[in-house]
Amino acid sequence: MLANVLIDLEVLYYLSKNDPPIHRYLHTYLGGIFMGVFAGLLMFGVIQIACRVLPAHSRWRARVIQAPKLQLLWQSLIAGLIGGVTHIFLDSLMHEEMNPFWPIADGNGLAGMLSVGTLHIGLAAAGLFSLIFWLLLRES
Ligand SMILES: [Zn+2]
Repeated sequence: MLANVLIDLEVLYYLSKNDPPIHRYLHTYLGGIFMGVFAGLLMFGVIQIACRVLPAHSRWRARVIQAPKLQLLWQSLIAGLIGGVTHIFLDSLMHEEMNPFWPIADGNGLAGMLSVGTLHIGLAAAGLFSLIFWLLLRES
């Protein structure tokens, strides 16, 4: 989730400047991968700090401390990469001015492939499925 917020800071910046196009370098697969790795490293750092700050009786803290640090780092990086790359893919379905394959290729052949309504219904269904999946798999 952090990767998505960081990537869309680019949109917020160019919107605030009223300087189109609003989807530029962070809205490329290269930018998405970069911000995904950055977000993963940032979250890993936040988790390490949270473990030091949270009270000793915290169940979350106890679980995190038991997990190997390298495993947590990989999980953070993979989560960031998935967030960054899927952000670029989903945005490229909607925003024609994007150049998702920059610097290899210009243009966006995926734009308009799905209607915005279809995309929103698909995302809502994926969100609902994910929520159900999470509820079924979470530890009690
Ligand atoms: Zn975006």
